[in-house]
Amino acid sequence: MLKENDDLSWYARKADGLRHGVGVARAAEDKGREQRIVRLLGALEAEGIKGSIERRTLYTKALPPGCRGCLGGKGTNAFVTGLCTRDCFFCFNQKPRTDELVVHGIKLAEPEDAGDVVRRYALRSVGVSGGEPTLRPERLLRLVRALRALPDRVRIDLYTNGDKLTDGLLAELKGAGLDALRFNAVARDFDLEPIGRALKFFAETAVEVPVVPDRMPEMEELVLRLDAMGVPFMNIHELFACRENAGRVSEQGYASGGEASSGLLWEPVAEGDEAALSLLLFALRRAERLSVYYCSCRTQQDISSRGLRRRIRLAGGGER
Ligand code: SF4
Repeated sequence: MLKENDDLSWYARKADGLRHGVGVARAAEDKGREQRIVRLLGALEAEGIKGSIERRTLYTKALPPGCRGCLGGKGTNAFVTGLCTRDCFFCFNQKPRTDELVVHGIKLAEPEDAGDVVRRYALRSVGVSGGEPTLRPERLLRLVRALRALPDRVRIDLYTNGDKLTDGLLAELKGAGLDALRFNAVARDFDLEPIGRALKFFAETAVEVPVVPDRMPEMEELVLRLDAMGVPFMNIHELFACRENAGRVSEQGYASGGEASSGLLWEPVAEGDEAALSLLLFALRRAERLSVYYCSCRTQQDISSRGLRRRIRLAGGGER
């Protein structure tokens, strides 16, 4: 999700710079990729994919409950801390990392202040993340309790890599009123141990990962392993470059998406959409219970626009 202080002109400059100098070989490569994407979309449609092909908001069985408020522009992020236990090449967190609580783009002194922000903007769902939010367990628990104490029920999902998630903290989070967890299993190099433990506390234990095109065998294996474990939802993103990760994404050998990503604030890498669609088709064919949802850069852009329109309406005293 876009942060309030994102420098939009940076993205425009970056996109122009990356597109500049695309040669004939690259054009041929892009054409081949476009043809493969058309074939993938045809297969997905024929085999019953749900959602919007045009906006790349696609899912195999059901949308995760935590995504509904967000898709309607009524969701927000709460960053418990910017600190993290990992240093993923695809990470889009602002650097240098700071140990601050930020809710809906607003720095807060106390977790209990989050309720006012959620009420003021009539928000319906909060993705609690970081950094790694479990690095500050007391701050995290106070935040979840404050959100759960609101008179209108708010959906609360916790995003974590699982590194610091003990059984004790899982039990406390359950008691505090957390709805669900979303694990970044790629950040943990496909180690699913914390996910197995979380399932004992939260039936809705999900996974949310970027699709790394160079690791497709492991990504497909991940779908099968999660399905076998009884994980209900897996959200996938296309790998993208932004101000915070562009250098490291490029070092991994990924290039700009070129014209295909024109107009998007986050720029998917050239192989990103194809890899995500391919994994979606794999899940559609092979997963028995696991539902996979492709939340693309285009989807993120739509969500951001809806949220902005809603904020303007609210500021003008309009409808919720
Ligand atoms: S675990 Fe998440 S927050 Fe931490 S470095 Fe990786 S992507 Fe960034």
